[in-house]
Amino acid sequence: MSAMTDESTMEDEAADVLGCEAMGQPSSYETLVEENRRLKALLHRQESQLRLLEQERLKQGRHVPPPSAHFPPCASTASPPVPSPSASSSSSSPSTPLPLPPVHSLSSSEISRYSRQLLVSRFGVTGQRNLLSSSVLVVGAGGLGSAVLLYLAGAGVGRLGIVDGDRVEASNLHRQVIHGDSQVGTNKAVSASSRVRDLNGGLRVSVLEEDVGYGNVASVLAGWDLVVDASDNPLTRYVLNDACWLAGEGGGEGGGEGGGQGGGRRRRRQPTALVSAAALGLEGQVTVFDYEPLGASGGGGKGGREGGGKAQRGPCYRCLYPKPLAAASQSCNESGVLGPVPGIIGCVQAMEVLKLLADSPALPPLSSRLLLYDGTSSTSPFLSLALPPSSLPACPLCSGQLTTLAECASWAAERNLRGPRLTCPSSLPPSLPPSLLPPEHDITCQAYASLLHAQTPHYLIDVRDPTQFAICSLPNAINIPLASLASSLPPSLPPSLPPPSSPSPEGGKEDGATTTSPFPSLPSLPPRDAPIYVICRRGVMSQKATRMLLEGGWQRVWNVRGGLVQWREEVDGQFPMY
Ligand SMILES: [Zn+2]
Repeated sequence: MSAMTDESTMEDEAADVLGCEAMGQPSSYETLVEENRRLKALLHRQESQLRLLEQERLKQGRHVPPPSAHFPPCASTASPPVPSPSASSSSSSPSTPLPLPPVHSLSSSEISRYSRQLLVSRFGVTGQRNLLSSSVLVVGAGGLGSAVLLYLAGAGVGRLGIVDGDRVEASNLHRQVIHGDSQVGTNKAVSASSRVRDLNGGLRVSVLEEDVGYGNVASVLAGWDLVVDASDNPLTRYVLNDACWLAGEGGGEGGGEGGGQGGGRRRRRQPTALVSAAALGLEGQVTVFDYEPLGASGGGGKGGREGGGKAQRGPCYRCLYPKPLAAASQSCNESGVLGPVPGIIGCVQAMEVLKLLADSPALPPLSSRLLLYDGTSSTSPFLSLALPPSSLPACPLCSGQLTTLAECASWAAERNLRGPRLTCPSSLPPSLPPSLLPPEHDITCQAYASLLHAQTPHYLIDVRDPTQFAICSLPNAINIPLASLASSLPPSLPPSLPPPSSPSPEGGKEDGATTTSPFPSLPSLPPRDAPIYVICRRGVMSQKATRMLLEGGWQRVWNVRGGLVQWREEVDGQFPMY
């Protein structure tokens, strides 16, 4: 069972404020402004708690069982729906959040705080009340999650759950703007929770410092009204899709209604709606998978889809991506991304959450549609595509071939889907890839460094793409990308390079400095009797290149094992890495 930690600092905050006054600290203007801000946040929290407790009192007075009675994991607890601050700070809080009761009216401070969105007629008071009584679980507190969490916190979602097992790195901060320099090394869910609580003191926030997989997804998702997939890897996307889809079917580990309302939607034990997105490079995409059972009522919100139900189920994530796409398996660590791209896509995700929870026909969500974003386009960067219906019988989920999470897990294991820890290699200590070459054609970085210092004549071929090569490289390296090398090999041999020179042992270039290589540019290859060393970022592509050269007739070829990552570990700790 995965334990989420409820975080609340209301009592601490009150003590801080009172302590500050009691100690008679200087009442400068800045201090008074700060105290005023903190007291307002405290007042906002207390009003929210008072309102919820009053609603609960009224319910019990009418002998209506509290919503938690519909949730077996919580039925035995004597805790009220709104945990006291002291209880909510316990790390042994149950993983299933207590359902939030409906909000029938807004407090004075809530009207003031949310006035600008209350004035949006399509959202209004009904949308805000639905929002305040809803819980949203955001899986991933990275680039997408930064935008999603900040805007949902600002909008006043009743409870936010943040799930992430990763830690903040400096290379994250250009796009994961919910974190800062001071949080480097901190768990991302913990870091994000402090920011959203600072943004909106009335929020209830739950944190889970874990990754989501088939083994824990049922317990992690239990009790939440809506899920946002802000992850960055194909395995998590399949896991969340499968769990929500099975919940919509009412079978597997995810089914069954839980009673009550989550916003305007029918509340179930497991969420059935998933706001899914991806962003990489200069592109992104968003869609909403709403797996509410066909014919089910949309919920109780005024003007909602009451009595309507869905006529036809749209495609699931597996319908769109029956096999993990190569691009979907890439991560920002490998392919790069401009910071605003996940920010834009994350904002669209937050908007879709607001629309789903508002549950108004005036705000149709992106169900059965795919919104594409192309950052290179100056004329039509957004494109909304209508998706076809469920791809029966091709989809193993929609066709009923996969009926449980265990079966889905086996499907993923057979395809060796990559999870979050495998798509964030920079967060791990470097490890050498398995060698696919004969030992006599594999040398260590230290051995190559000795050769370099001895100024032994040779060629060094770097098979990374030119974009990565421009960031940093070893001295006198020749950039021949792997794809170019493959197209340059026999039968159409290119002209040969001049005889090898003795490279300087000094350090490599970086930051786009002009190459010092004396050799012609692509696609020239060294003579067949020349000594050639091959390197790349991590030592995988260089093995392929070495094998290609050996099979092409070059005899004196060696792979520099572990690539530039290992070079930094073994030889030069100051060598730039990206
Ligand atoms: Zn499907």
